[in-house]
Formats: sequence, C-alpha cells, structure tokens
Amino acid sequence: MSVIQSLRGALGEDRVLTGGDMAAWSGDWTGRYRWTPLCVVRPGSTEEVCAVMRIAHSAAVPVVPVSGHTGLAGGTHGDGAVMLSLERLNAIEEIRPEARVAVVGAGVVLSALHEAAEAQGLSFPITFGARGSARVGGLLATNAGGSNVLRYGNTRDLVLGLEAVTAEGRVLDLMTALHKNNAGYDLRHLLIGSEGTLAVITRAVLKLVRQPRAHATAMVAARSVSEALVLLNRLQDVTGGAVEAFEYMPAAYMDTYLALHPEARAPFDSPQAVNILLELGVTSPRDSTPGEDGLVPVVAALRGNAGRAAGTGAGAGCGGGAFRGAAGRDVGAPRGGGRGLAVAGRRAGQ
Ligand SMILES: Cc1cc2nc3c(=O)[nH]c(=O)nc-3n(C[C@H](O)[C@H](O)[C@H](O)COP(=O)(O)OP(=O)(O)OC[C@H]3O[C@@H](n4cnc5c(N)ncnc54)[C@H](O)[C@@H]3O)c2cc1C
Repeated sequence: MSVIQSLRGALGEDRVLTGGDMAAWSGDWTGRYRWTPLCVVRPGSTEEVCAVMRIAHSAAVPVVPVSGHTGLAGGTHGDGAVMLSLERLNAIEEIRPEARVAVVGAGVVLSALHEAAEAQGLSFPITFGARGSARVGGLLATNAGGSNVLRYGNTRDLVLGLEAVTAEGRVLDLMTALHKNNAGYDLRHLLIGSEGTLAVITRAVLKLVRQPRAHATAMVAARSVSEALVLLNRLQDVTGGAVEAFEYMPAAYMDTYLALHPEARAPFDSPQAVNILLELGVTSPRDSTPGEDGLVPVVAALRGNAGRAAGTGAGAGCGGGAFRGAAGRDVGAPRGGGRGLAVAGRRAGQ
C-alpha cells in the first residue's frame, strides 16, 4: 500500500490532499519559496497526528509541520514531504481566569486567542502583524517575539506546558500548568524554537496576564540608541515597569518604508537617526482613570517624561502629532512644531 493510501485509510479520503488541492501548501506568499509536497494531511486530533507520524516513519518519508504559513523564512519547505497542517487542531479548550492560563490546540490562530482572553479581561501578550494568520504551533515552533517582548518575553516565557508527537508517533505529554516546576530536564524548552525539527507540537498551556486598563503609545526620536535607553530606563522607573513595547527603527527603516508607501506621513518634521515606537500599558485604576484635566495619567506620564528627555538633551527629541484616542478622538495637546510628541492614549473598552 502506498503512503498516500495508508494516510487516507487512517484519516479519511478528504483529509489527504494531492495535486492541485495542495496549492496553498506549496509555497509562501513572498514567492521566494516553492516546493511540491508528496501530499498534505489535515489531522483533527493528536491521535491522528500520531497515525500520520507512524505511517511516514515506517516509510521513511519526511514530514513538515505547517501552521499559519507566516514564517516566510522557508521553514515549511517540503519537496516530496508529507505536509502536516495543524489548522484543524484549533480548539480553545479552556480559559481559566483564576489561574490565568489558556489550554489550546496548536492550530488556534493568535488573534482568536487574543479575543478569547480579552473576553475574560485577560491578555495573551504576544502580538505582531501576522496575528490574524499565525497559529499557536507556529508561535511555539519559532519562539516568536513580537512587539511586547520587553515586558513579557518571547513565546518561550509564556508557555507552561505543551504536548507534542515524536517522529515515531509517540505522544510527549508535558501539559502542566504549574509555574513552580523545577523537576528534572525541561523538554518543553528543547521543543520551543525547534522549528519542526524534533516533534510536532499539538497542544499548549499558555500564561495569560491582566489586560492593561489603559495604554499610551508614542513615536519618539533620539539622537542615539544610548539616549533612547536613558528614556527607556526613566519610563520604567516612573511607571513601575509599564513599558510594553520599545521598538527601534533606524533612519534606513523609515526611508525604506516611506519609499514603499509614499502615501504615508513621516512621524517627524525631519528625518531622525533613531526612531522608537513605544507603548506603556497600565493595570491599576489609579494610572488609568482620567484626572481633572481629562488626561489619563499614563498618557501624562509618557508626555512628561519623553518631553523632559527632549528638553535635557539626555534623552529623546520628539516629533509632532496629535494626541488621539483609540477611536480617533482627540484627547490632548496638538502637534508640537517638531519638538512635540506623537502620543495616542486608549483605555480598555474604548
Ligand atoms: C507581517 C508579519 C509580521 C511578523 N512579525 C513577527 C514578529 O514580530 N516576531 C516574530 O518572532 N515573528 C514575526 N513574524 C514571523 C511569523 O509570523 C512567526 O514566526 C510565527 O510564529 C509563525 O507562525 P505560523 O503559524 O505562521 O508558522 P508557520 O509559518 O506555518 O511555520 C513556521 C515554522 O514552524 C514549524 N511549525 C509550525 N507549526 C508547528 C508545529 N505545530 N509543531 C512543530 N513545528 C511547527 C514549521 O515547520 C516552520 O518551520 C511575522 C510574520 C509576518 C508575515
């Protein structure tokens, strides 16, 4: 019996794709990588993943796991391979608000996890541009980062437990939700970041955090990275470590972006060597309730400190822009003639 026949026997005819049906699994959208898989399998359970791995192992056919196709680095290249799609393992099995954990299948799309956590006032803090397509299995396999690494770490730091299937089709059950777990070797960390080379990740237990009650976001320019670090440390000090994102964009990045998107507006009146997109997120009512001036304290803190840094020359020079709420509502001071600060404030639920 051929490998394809065996796989169809184990999963069902319509769960094993061949020929033109494999188009979506035969390249990535950059067009840089194209390949021709032997077939694409779409198992719906860990047991079915085990069956696929056993069949491929006994026939010595390679298997390439694929989640959301957003890696774009050729990691899912699989000429002649069985492409194992995780997309049907997409159950959000449990959100446990009191323990602040989510138990999910590897096929859950990142934005679906965000929505499920937010419905409970919680947040899974990994976020990046591909959140509407990238899936949990891909996040773990690449140890994805995103814009909030500074505060919450990479994916590795948010995984309490996982389940994976080995090349011979054995289940590795590491599905603990225990934070204080120091028993023996930690295979979890061997598998996170292994990019599909060691096992197929099928489920995970993920940490959730309190959803911030308010955010303040700014685009800040500095003369050097050292100056930007002075600002970062000051903001961490005055906010008790509320900096979620501090994303460095050099002048060359801005030039490339503006060349590609002529319709976009540069954040500053003149080009800057060091551009930082920064975001603060606060969870306490004290920092998120508007004061008598109508300004949310975290927005005021960002404005005051980033602005002060610009004045001293020890920190950031700040570009212009209006203060805007999440829904485009003006909430603060206007453009500052090249020494202002582009800040957006938003509160949860806005
Ligand atoms: C617009 C955009 C922005 C991005 N921003 C960031 C960013 O800020 N930070 C960042 O780190 N990445 C970023 N990426 C890269 C990418 O989104 C991440 O690497 C993401 O984690 C990949 O997830 P995926 O589900 O698409 O995985 P895929 O692309 O499907 O797979 C990626 C790799 O993981 C393996 N794999 C997939 N699923 C499994 C599984 N279940 N078990 C074992 N191995 C598996 C694959 O074989 C492959 O090697 C971005 C990509 C785009 C398109």
